[in-house]
Amino acid sequence: MEQTLNTLSKIDEVLTKRPLIISGPCSAETEEQVIETATRLKNTGKVDVLRAGIWKPRTRPGSFEGVGTKGLNWLTQARKLTGLPVAVEVATAKQVEDALHFDIDILWIGARTTVNPFSVQEVADALRGANVPVLIKNPINPDLELWIGAVERVAKAGIKNIGLIHRGFSSYGNTEYRNAPMWHMAIEMKRRNPGMMIINDPSHISGNRTLLQSVAQKAIDLDFDGIMIESHIDPDKAWSDAKQQVTPERLAEILDAIIWRHESTDQKEFVVALEKLREQINHVDDELMQLLGQRMKIAEKIGEYKKNNDITILQTSRWNEILERATKKGEALGLSKEFITKYYDAVHMESINHQNNIMNS
Ligand code: PEP
Ligand code: MN
Repeated sequence: MEQTLNTLSKIDEVLTKRPLIISGPCSAETEEQVIETATRLKNTGKVDVLRAGIWKPRTRPGSFEGVGTKGLNWLTQARKLTGLPVAVEVATAKQVEDALHFDIDILWIGARTTVNPFSVQEVADALRGANVPVLIKNPINPDLELWIGAVERVAKAGIKNIGLIHRGFSSYGNTEYRNAPMWHMAIEMKRRNPGMMIINDPSHISGNRTLLQSVAQKAIDLDFDGIMIESHIDPDKAWSDAKQQVTPERLAEILDAIIWRHESTDQKEFVVALEKLREQINHVDDELMQLLGQRMKIAEKIGEYKKNNDITILQTSRWNEILERATKKGEALGLSKEFITKYYDAVHMESINHQNNIMNS
């Protein structure tokens, strides 16, 4: 039946709640664990949807890969006992069929699936004709088009209720996060899909319990529609993502500590604008760093020439020329002479060190 605003199904209605809170274990492990988690989550009075991974995409083989289809029964049991609608991740046509067969309320597409158009298409084809909400996580790499492509494939399969989950992006190098949030990506996705629900997943962004609170707060400050946080009855013993899970009671504390900023839209706009500007600063800083790296590589080449021709590293006249040129240019750009001198001193020292290493190698 054609879904319209006037004939929202029960589950569509649940998904309109703001903020929407989804919680549950990373993985369903045993029937008792699922039931106890659901009951304790229900008792907090703060959770709208129960989540659990049944099929787990693991980076390395040999890790726990989920209990499989039998876990779907546990979820429907938990739903019956608590009244909480249930959500699972699907990555193949068979998983979609099984989940639909067990009448799972909400399906989500994981980050490792969104990244692959073949897989997304397979899932979308299996969804054709189903009346089930589908939440689409961002791809693991920061590529907005892939995320949008997944939304389009699922929409083309006739799914009416599509939501987004921002779970951060894999990034090279150390960051404090398991998956760098790159908030600007989520903000842009929101801008490109006005009216589509977007919730944040602090668990997979943080990768640990300490950061959950600040990530959740930031998401609310940025006007996300809700959050999904993993919870477990005994987090340290969880069979997957043990470091980032919290007990249902701890989840309630985290939710209580969030400052729900919804009173002033001005404030939201301000936070969004600030975030965009900060991302721009990060971008410029990254470029500056790249350029400085390049500058040092050139200095090393000069060092090699000097070494081969027995010339001293420091040639005072050349340095004065650089400084004079920089001061003129910098002042025209509004940079103080004092700053330019300090900056060039530092750059010069670093350059000399690089050349020195070459001369003495
Ligand atoms: C999950 O939600 O447990 C999960 C596997 O997430 P992601 O796809 O974001 O890695
Ligand atoms: Mn997980």
